[in-house]
Amino acid sequence: LMRSLVKKRVPLQMGRLCYSSSSVPTTKLFIDGKFVESKSSQWLDIHNPATNEVIGRVPKATHEEMLAAVDSCSRAYHAWSETSILARQQIFLRYQQLIKDNIKELAKLITLEQGKTLADAEGDVFRGLQVVEHTCSITSLMLGETLPSITKDMDTYTYRLPIGVCAGIAPFNFPAMIPLWMFPMGMVCGNTYLMKPSERVPGCAMMLAKLLQDAGAPDGTLNIIHGQHDAVNFICDHPAIKAISFVGSNQAGEYIYERGSKNGKRVQSNMVGPEHEVNEFTENQTAYERVNLEGAKNHGVVMPDANKENTLNQLVGAAFGAAGQRCMALSTAILIGEARNWLPELVERAKGLRVNAGDQPGADVGPLISPQAKERVNSLIQSGVDEGAKVLLDGRNVKVKGYENGNFVGPTIISNVTPNMKCYTEEIFGPVLVVLEADSLDDAIKIVNKNPYGNGTAIFTTNGAAARKYTHEVDVGQVGVNVPIPVPLPMFSFTGSRASFRGDTNFYGKQGIQFYTQIKTVTSQWKAEDATLKSPAVTMPT
Ligand code: NAD
Repeated sequence: LMRSLVKKRVPLQMGRLCYSSSSVPTTKLFIDGKFVESKSSQWLDIHNPATNEVIGRVPKATHEEMLAAVDSCSRAYHAWSETSILARQQIFLRYQQLIKDNIKELAKLITLEQGKTLADAEGDVFRGLQVVEHTCSITSLMLGETLPSITKDMDTYTYRLPIGVCAGIAPFNFPAMIPLWMFPMGMVCGNTYLMKPSERVPGCAMMLAKLLQDAGAPDGTLNIIHGQHDAVNFICDHPAIKAISFVGSNQAGEYIYERGSKNGKRVQSNMVGPEHEVNEFTENQTAYERVNLEGAKNHGVVMPDANKENTLNQLVGAAFGAAGQRCMALSTAILIGEARNWLPELVERAKGLRVNAGDQPGADVGPLISPQAKERVNSLIQSGVDEGAKVLLDGRNVKVKGYENGNFVGPTIISNVTPNMKCYTEEIFGPVLVVLEADSLDDAIKIVNKNPYGNGTAIFTTNGAAARKYTHEVDVGQVGVNVPIPVPLPMFSFTGSRASFRGDTNFYGKQGIQFYTQIKTVTSQWKAEDATLKSPAVTMPT
């Protein structure tokens, strides 16, 4: 293990991990420590969102391959769970260094498959890396509790123990960060892990798996399968899998939560939208059609006393960064009082952003994931126009020189929006900021609390009392005060609430450790010889 302390750099081409040398590059499966070509007859294309060229293919793993992967996890579990916690910690200490050494290569893969700008892709890796760094404190995080002398000569203590094989199902929008919320947390606790990355962006997860292997993770401790509904159903149903972590759209999350829970598994499901009927998705629905039927609406409430310069910059960055494809994107602004007059300046700042392919210097806003996503965003903008809203900045016809086939939508600002409009009720998941107005903070709080989504929100103000009132009264799981995207660092947990989360323990932080562990409580009595029981005790001890 110590040998892999040596810094390693993994080449971007990832020949043996991701793409074969044939003219049609293929993504491998990672089974029992080997990167293997799938025997599947069903493959999906992977596109570069900036050009829509096919850049690779990903298999829908066969049933036998999925079984092989979970069996590998099961076989590896005993030895891994018995591996000393210090040895597991050392692997993750090496892993965080390898991720740091390869951050640029990981970012390039993200930009290629997902489209976001290189700088933003590095941020994607970095925020996942922070979770890996946090796993290195596992020796403190996994401590149990003790209480001596609960009665004469009797002590009680608890152990935190792993639960078995765990599984993760990830979305397309954070190809590094979200898988890194999952398998490092699960594995460091002593579980083995079956990962299913998004079928649209599998490359980064494959490279992360290789780096973990280089860090010394034994064969079988992490396995990776690819696919869509068969893979998801397999994970929900297989009896060896004890827990499922899901992040993604509401429709998938509700379905996985229900199916996994019915099968007796722990499920934590980070989603975005409101409760609705659970549907099994059908074979012929495309991923894009399924996505975002409803979704997150994170509100930014702007008080007239806010620092104008900061607030406008923060709104623009948080609405349009990552082309709005963040579950915590600040996609809705509520302007109060005088702040309504700031709209022209907001538009000017948004106009200054450069729309371009993510790997081009100076790009601020990259393409959307697919032509279908672009079409959907454009039609939601149009729905605003049709319902009487005002498009102050229209990114629908943006042209990007050299990337005419890309899925680009420029920054768009829609004002005069009311809560009954479709562009407000649906997660747009694109570079679109919808703007509402309110007469008072109380009115703004009413709007936010009436919305079923509880992922994130922010208030911009210089008034401490207003900030306190807002943080106290708003019914949203993650609140920023002059912080537009308040995603908690890993010593805390990601605490989306209401319809944005199913389960009872959140991702990462203390709650993540709780999710991936179970408690064993030991009560022991060591009596001195002269205190030996003289007869059987048949009543409950009092
Ligand atoms: P998605 O739900 O389409 O896909 C996520 C995963 O679920 C993928 O691995 C996919 O194969 C699988 N899947 C897709 N549809 C399914 C279905 N109907 N049933 C079962 N499994 C299914 O999500 P996406 O488009 O990849 O990601 C974008 C969405 O994720 C957005 O709505 C975004 O807001 C949300 N998201 C939420 C969070 C959060 O923490 N709340 C974080 C990131 C993204």
